[in-house]
Amino acid sequence: MAYIEPAPLKDKENPFEAMMSRFHVAAQILGLEDEIYNVLKNPARQVIVSLPVTMDDGSIRVFEGYRVIHSTILGPSKGGIRFDPHVNLDEVKALAAWMSWKCAVVDIPYGGAKGGVTCNPREMSTGEIERLMRAYTQAMADVFGPDQDIPAPDMGTGPREMAWLMDQYSRYKGMTTHAVVTGKPLVMGGSLGRTEATGRGVMVSAMAAMEKLKINPYKATCAVQGFGNVGSWAARLLHERGLIVQAVSDLSGAYFNAQGIDIEKAIKYRDANKGSLEGFTGAEKISNDDLLTLPVDLLVPAATEDVITSSNVVGIKARLIVEGANGPTSSKADNVINEKGIMVVPDILANAGGVTVSYFEWVQNRLGYKWTADRVNRRSDRIMKDAFNNVYKTSQEYKVPMRIAAYMVAIDKVAKTYKFRGGY
Ligand code: NAD
Repeated sequence: MAYIEPAPLKDKENPFEAMMSRFHVAAQILGLEDEIYNVLKNPARQVIVSLPVTMDDGSIRVFEGYRVIHSTILGPSKGGIRFDPHVNLDEVKALAAWMSWKCAVVDIPYGGAKGGVTCNPREMSTGEIERLMRAYTQAMADVFGPDQDIPAPDMGTGPREMAWLMDQYSRYKGMTTHAVVTGKPLVMGGSLGRTEATGRGVMVSAMAAMEKLKINPYKATCAVQGFGNVGSWAARLLHERGLIVQAVSDLSGAYFNAQGIDIEKAIKYRDANKGSLEGFTGAEKISNDDLLTLPVDLLVPAATEDVITSSNVVGIKARLIVEGANGPTSSKADNVINEKGIMVVPDILANAGGVTVSYFEWVQNRLGYKWTADRVNRRSDRIMKDAFNNVYKTSQEYKVPMRIAAYMVAIDKVAKTYKFRGGY
């Protein structure tokens, strides 16, 4: 059957607009010159390729693939590859810029990039996905490189696809090149600690924020939206630090228990139940919307974008929001959150633990050496804590919310580096 492009979701905020509205405010407070503003606003490079792939039935289908490099000012660009029917150039551009700010805010020596192919991997065989990944890699062989542009998994891709990418690139170069991609399987140069890295970074950010807000973690309650990689790891690690996780959720709904959800039991249940919490006992079932407005100390949106919006923000009672997901808060909800005095640790800071450990994977590949999980965790915790303190200090100094402060830290770093390096 022919592929039909789905209609755009009309009530959703365009991710590029959401990012640009915050970028604009931060740039104004910093007094960023118009020239530099324009440099940082526009992606450095946009590559679009047509990828003919032989399907299992012998027909040839042509897929469209993208790679957008937003910036290489701080170093080689870094960013995931998305295989999804909604992939389009605008979205890839926004996500590439997002990566620039994320890397800059945690002070790792990368620029930002993103890639994607408009396809539906759920309707493709393993062989078709492999041929598509190899075709994409071959088409981008001159874009990628350990010192140029380093891809990683994103929605619809994982370690398996990264293994094919690494292999195809290595064939093209005539030498094994581990450091061209991160998120690889552990046996072929992946890093220990990567799976839990984003959830762990969320926990470190939450603990640092609670310390500033004088919230005692042993008396604090929390709700986590999304029980995938980020949400379940964040819930588990927050519970280990003493918090009572009163609610968790996934696409099947939300599960509430005032005494605390047994997180290990919930993870075991999900793993034995095709990844879903549907039917989980030991909790009362509530809706995902109700989870967001629970009277908890900490709210962790770790599912998807645009869940805290102008229509539900008024009901939010948490004192602290730590954004595990990318873009969970629409820019229109920002003002109400600020008026309510809720502290938000924004996505570009709170979920940067993942890219930090990806950076460690690249470092280990280049060293030809493997670190222990303990070393990876200690180093990523330190990077996350330092980044949090830096953003917090900026927010106090300029009397701005943490989100704007994070953009200010990132933009300032990239702009200053640009000025030192110089343009034409
Ligand atoms: P995942 O696919 O492993 O899990 C997503 C979870 O959210 C699932 O439990 C799913 O059922 C649930 N979910 C989806 N839509 C929902 C909705 N509308 N309401 C409630 N639950 C919903 O994904 P993940 O890797 O955990 O990523 C989650 C978010 O974190 C995404 O925004 C992703 O971009 C972001 N993120 C992930 C990483 C990473 O390292 N995995 C890094 C940075 C940012």
